Amino acid sequence: MSKKELLDVVVAEVIVCVKCPLWKGRKKAVPGEGSPEAEIMFIGEAPGYWEDVRGRPFVGDAGKFLDSLISDIGFSREEVFITNVVKCRPPKNREPMPNEIQTCTPYLDRQIRLIQPKFIVTLGNHSTVCIFSKAGLPFNSITQAHGKFYDASILDMKVTVFATFHPAAALYSAKYKEQIADDFKLLRQELEKRGIVTESSK
Ligand code: URA
Ligand code: SF4
Repeated sequence: MSKKELLDVVVAEVIVCVKCPLWKGRKKAVPGEGSPEAEIMFIGEAPGYWEDVRGRPFVGDAGKFLDSLISDIGFSREEVFITNVVKCRPPKNREPMPNEIQTCTPYLDRQIRLIQPKFIVTLGNHSTVCIFSKAGLPFNSITQAHGKFYDASILDMKVTVFATFHPAAALYSAKYKEQIADDFKLLRQELEKRGIVTESSK
C-alpha cells in the first residue's frame, strides 16, 4: 500500500474508534489531514467545537490564525500535515486526560512514522509534553521550551522538534499572538537555512 493509502487506513480506524471514552461525546472524530509527503507536521491538542462538527483539524478561529502562520512560513495547508494529540473532542473543551492521550497516541505514532516529517511543530502545552516525551526531551514549561530547535529522535526517526504556544491563546492575548508570530519567524529562518523553503516563497 502507498503512504497515502496507509494514512487513509488510520483515518478509517479513527472515525469509528471507541477505544477511549471521548468517542461518546463526539459528533465527528478528527483524524488529521494534509500531504503524505509533508516535511512539517503541526500537532495540536484536541478538536474543539468546529473541528468536532466538521471532522477537520483547526477550522475554527484558532485555525484561521494557524493558516496565516503556515502561509507566513511559505507553505499552504495542503503541503503540510495537521493533526492533534487526541482525535476526539473532550466534553466542553476540557483538557485531554492522561489515559485518553495514552490510548489515542498509537494513531499519532502511525501518522508520524508514515509521514517521517523533518520538523514537528507542537502547538501548546499538551502537544509539547506528548512529543517531548516521545523524543525523551526534558520538559519544564512551554515558556521555556518554545522557540528552540531540538534535534531529536522520535520512534527511531531523526526529527527536529519545535514548540510554540497554542494558536487559541493568541485569540485572547496580544502577547501570545506576538510570541507565536516571533516563533514562526524563527521557524521560517531555520527552514530557509535548511533549504526546505526558499527566500522567495511568499
Ligand atoms: N485546537 C486544537 O488543539 N486542535 C484543533 O484542531 C483545533 C483547536
Ligand atoms: Fe479513539 Fe482517540 Fe477518539 Fe479516544 S480520542 S475514541 S482513542 S480516536
